[in-house]
Amino acid sequence: MVIKNKKIAIIGGGPGGLTLARLLQQKGADVTVHERDAGRFVRVQGATLDLHDDSGLKALNEAGLIEEFKKYYRPGADKTRITDKYRNILYDQHEEHEEAVGFGHEHFRPEIDRGPLRDLLLDSLQPETVVWDSHITSLEKEEGKWQLVFQNGRKETADLVIGADGANSKIRPYLTPIKPFYSGITVVEGSIYNAAEKAPSIYELVKEGKVFAFGDQKSLIVSAKGDGSLSFYTGCRAEESWMHDSGIDFKDNKSVAAWFRTEFSDWDEIWQELFATEGTSFAPRPQYCMPLDQTWEACADMTLLGDAAHLMPPYAGEGVNMAMLDALELSNCLTGTDFPDIKEAIAYYENQMRARASETAKMTLEQTEALHSENAISHMLELFTE
Ligand SMILES: Cc1cc2nc3c(=O)[nH]c(=O)nc-3n(C[C@H](O)[C@H](O)[C@H](O)COP(=O)(O)OP(=O)(O)OC[C@H]3O[C@@H](n4cnc5c(N)ncnc54)[C@H](O)[C@@H]3O)c2cc1C
Repeated sequence: MVIKNKKIAIIGGGPGGLTLARLLQQKGADVTVHERDAGRFVRVQGATLDLHDDSGLKALNEAGLIEEFKKYYRPGADKTRITDKYRNILYDQHEEHEEAVGFGHEHFRPEIDRGPLRDLLLDSLQPETVVWDSHITSLEKEEGKWQLVFQNGRKETADLVIGADGANSKIRPYLTPIKPFYSGITVVEGSIYNAAEKAPSIYELVKEGKVFAFGDQKSLIVSAKGDGSLSFYTGCRAEESWMHDSGIDFKDNKSVAAWFRTEFSDWDEIWQELFATEGTSFAPRPQYCMPLDQTWEACADMTLLGDAAHLMPPYAGEGVNMAMLDALELSNCLTGTDFPDIKEAIAYYENQMRARASETAKMTLEQTEALHSENAISHMLELFTE
């Protein structure tokens, strides 16, 4: 394999970086993951994730982790309700008695929470593979190796650096100046812990699954997590600078609740529950996408995967799946015998990855547009009943 005796630094311990670490370690590679989080037990936020047969599940299978996955996935959590803004349920997967599909079926999309997914990947790695509290700030080239510089003053060297550090990657600018463009949609994300008590009506509506609500060119997506919490995000058309210019103090729940009451004023009262709870933390997230025609010259000692390579909005549920498939394809290129050197292995991986991500991003942008149009409900109903 072209990475024999090479010291590999993966920057970022998200689903993409950890999957890659596992796959490379299986082949005997010398790999370290440098993760910004202070430690393993920092709470993992965000909605649940559905893994797809031809990408996320495929990577877990190759990583020998599918049996472990079966212990932690949440059967039934993929069951979806589509509602209008008045909370009328227009489509209900809980009521469907379709033929059950399972592992190995192309339409099976089992859900797992981010925390358990991260745990199962972490547990599959050799001890000390992940170095926590490793917020990389810059890189320098010294005597043919990369020197990694961390915020806490630590320095490390590596022969090959893989940027798996997400949307605001610190590694990406060393490979390409290409920046993402704003999609036109800004999300406000939140989580409610102990939702059965704190937001009982919504909790009941979600029914341990998901609710997609649409109206007035806006979206609201709510999903139940295994720890009894609900995670949700609104999607609204807004100027790119809205999160700064709106005057909302996103650290002050009353300020966010007042915005929601005005912005979603015509929506049923039930949705207010999501914003009325003390202790909910909110994060505004303008949604960006990498250009579909992006390209850069392959480098012999650096590459990217996941959001760092091909950030896209969340409306097709592909981001984690793409990151894990990148990990699989990159590990195959680096540990196989098809390429004479690392640069050729990376060039092949990057060409395939960019082409695949471009197709997925195109579909995702179409989906983003459709879900924030006047026809959002009919579009979704068509998708789900096809
Ligand atoms: C609201 C929302 C909902 C989503 N829903 C879905 C969904 O349902 N399905 C789906 O497939 N995708 C979804 N996504 C997208 C998905 O979250 C991402 O595509 C996915 O997490 C990308 O994985 P990654 O490993 O590339 O990066 P990340 O998951 O972003 O991981 C990057 C890691 O790098 C670390 N890091 C960052 N900077 C540094 C640094 N400087 N130094 C060291 N470490 C660093 C971070 O702490 C993090 O652990 C959603 C996204 C959003 C915003």
